[in-house]
Amino acid sequence: MVRASDGVGTADLLDEPLTKHLAPGTARALAALGPVTVGDLLRFYPRRYVDPGVVTPLADLKEGDRVMVVGEVKRASMRRTAAQGKTLFEVVIADAHDEMRMVFFANSSRALGYHHKVLQRGCRAWFSGVVHARRGAMELRHPKFEEMGDRDLDPRDTWPKPVYPASAAIDSGAVGKAVATVLGPLHPGEVDDPLPDDVRTARGLIPLVQALRQVHEPHCEADWRTARARLRFEEAFVLQAELVRRRAQAADHVATARPARAGGLLDAFDARLPFTLTDGQRQVGAELAHELGLATPMQRLLQGEVGSGKTVVALRAMLQVVDAGGQAALLAPTEVLAAQHLATLRTMLGDLAQAGELGAAEHATSVTLLTGSLSAAARRQVLADAAGGAAGIVVGTHALLGDQVQFADLGLVVVDEQHRFGVEQRDALRTKAATVPHTLVMTATPIPRTVAMTVFGDLETSTLREVPAGRSAVVTHAVHAERPAWMARTWQRVAEAARTGGRAYVVAPRIDATDEPEDLVAIDEETAETRPPLCSVLDVAAQLADEPALDGVGIGVLHGRITGEAKERAFADFASGRVPVLVATTVVEVGVDVPEATVMVVLDADRFGISQLHQLRGRVGRGTTPGLCLLVSPVLDDTPVVVDANLDTTDPERTVSPIPAVARLRALERTTDGFELARLDLEQRREGDVLGAAQSGTANSLRLLRVTRDEAVIIAARTQAQRILAADPALCAHPALAKAIADRLAQADDEFLDRA
Ligand code: ADP
Ligand code: MG
Repeated sequence: MVRASDGVGTADLLDEPLTKHLAPGTARALAALGPVTVGDLLRFYPRRYVDPGVVTPLADLKEGDRVMVVGEVKRASMRRTAAQGKTLFEVVIADAHDEMRMVFFANSSRALGYHHKVLQRGCRAWFSGVVHARRGAMELRHPKFEEMGDRDLDPRDTWPKPVYPASAAIDSGAVGKAVATVLGPLHPGEVDDPLPDDVRTARGLIPLVQALRQVHEPHCEADWRTARARLRFEEAFVLQAELVRRRAQAADHVATARPARAGGLLDAFDARLPFTLTDGQRQVGAELAHELGLATPMQRLLQGEVGSGKTVVALRAMLQVVDAGGQAALLAPTEVLAAQHLATLRTMLGDLAQAGELGAAEHATSVTLLTGSLSAAARRQVLADAAGGAAGIVVGTHALLGDQVQFADLGLVVVDEQHRFGVEQRDALRTKAATVPHTLVMTATPIPRTVAMTVFGDLETSTLREVPAGRSAVVTHAVHAERPAWMARTWQRVAEAARTGGRAYVVAPRIDATDEPEDLVAIDEETAETRPPLCSVLDVAAQLADEPALDGVGIGVLHGRITGEAKERAFADFASGRVPVLVATTVVEVGVDVPEATVMVVLDADRFGISQLHQLRGRVGRGTTPGLCLLVSPVLDDTPVVVDANLDTTDPERTVSPIPAVARLRALERTTDGFELARLDLEQRREGDVLGAAQSGTANSLRLLRVTRDEAVIIAARTQAQRILAADPALCAHPALAKAIADRLAQADDEFLDRA
């Protein structure tokens, strides 16, 4: 991995390689876990702490507690167990009042030789471990122990023990020793603190070196808690400083002004729009129109409810730029989405998108697609159209970021984000324009405010809250797949819709039994073994053909393996009502618009993510009849339980379903508010999935900060970052902060290059 400091002769202590301080084998084992430099290792925080805690009297033991006890060995015996031929070493200890059993198992008595030698009758020792109950008596199994003789407990014995991420090559204890080697000689103030002193003291936070000591070698719980609070704030602060600075820098650049032009493409498009824009669309549209007309680059995030009409808003902005003589690029995260965007834009534009073809409209432009899977010839054509300016709008995937892609005059970049592009990648397209292009980032579904601030903090935000008038409510029910009566009722509802002029979608996660879809929610091995196999489009279509309730009702299929023409026919038949039931994969998730559709059945709904289900549900209730969404799942039984406190939570008890899939389905039943669903989604998913690689990688990125939990910290950090940067935009007086930001960016670049 290339680091920011490579080639710098005077690299300071933090940039020194670990090979300089540790044995080669240790350094190699650590590198495999992540840390390469001294700085990396100091920031390689314990995952949790085991608290041997205070000594518990034997009478006070509770099952499940992690305890430390001190006692004298009364009896010790080694024997072979009858059942498995194992060796069992059993020790009974006593304190002043009570007795307790310690048990150790091994395959041979040799493995327990040390135990046997040390834990003899009369030996006084401490033991620590988790309390198990066996036949009413408490015992520890394989406790840690140490002989104490007559001495008192060493204070070190009671310090919390850090537990580090470890591997077969290096265990947690050895990681701790390596950390101690580099941490030991550090003096207070020797490491430059990215957090300015006044910010730190105003928040009542401890200095950096002290925090590093306390996080790695705490003497009590309060030590690591105050240390983590400080380090967490620092993470938030460095990130916000970076974003605030990016926003300020962007504002300093010059863009080409693309003011709206009367009588152009945009006007022609508006004139034939089959609906009136919502107030929100008009407002945001005016905002964008204004900013595109300025010589300062627009930097905007457009987020909104599913079905709120973001695409139209983005398309209108693109048309304004084309009218002004520029080009627009639309960057999508996957080929499927790129193809769908292309289809949507071409449909909405009609002959306005047929420049150079017979029957084109007067102001027509051309919309093209660039993905990695184009043939060489097609690719050459698209590149020529982009570079020559013939293509007004270019839709594409990552392929758009390639070096060979040039534009005649790129004026607007629209990024269909889906949380998959980092800040840096968004920049890659900017280098393709003579002046900095305007940028509009769209999210597919609403996102919570903390995510917006963490991932898109360099952008101004526009939000579409309302969905177009004429939409009807959608009622959602979770349906147990293994209750025949419920399934019969499900197909009845589909039949009722089909017989009364409506349409019904039936979505299955895969095409046939050989298909292994990639974008499903992962499940653990145990669930995978007990859960019935996934439904497939082809099986379900065959099954529905035999379903009595659906006798005489036309059933079509739609999935990714059907070729273009057949796909269009299947879809046209469904739209016209000739075939009112469509069994499909998630190809219907985005962009499919049939106002008569009133029923959405999603099979194996437990394997779909929240935003995906919310998108699918958005396909019904588009006309005047209320929609019905049935989420079918074999996993449904639901007993809310109290989930365990995690390390830093301030609110230790929450009652939610212990099964994430069930919690998702219940949430969808309960609400159609995309912002609320987004919050649950965020809580359930790994932080990295939400924030993208750039914000959740290894050193220098977010290790302690959790956007679900740390909203107050993020907001406070942003306020402080704004204050510092307003006074010192170039960070001349804050070199440590400037360096922390530079390191973060260098790392994000590495990660991007590694993946690209
Ligand atoms: P999303 O914000 O989820 O991306 P879309 O842009 O896909 O939403 O819009 C959803 C559907 O609503 C599209 O079929 C679009 O044509 C339609 N639509 C957009 N704006 C309006 C409006 N103002 N009135 C009626 N329909 C609209
Ligand atoms: Mg959309």
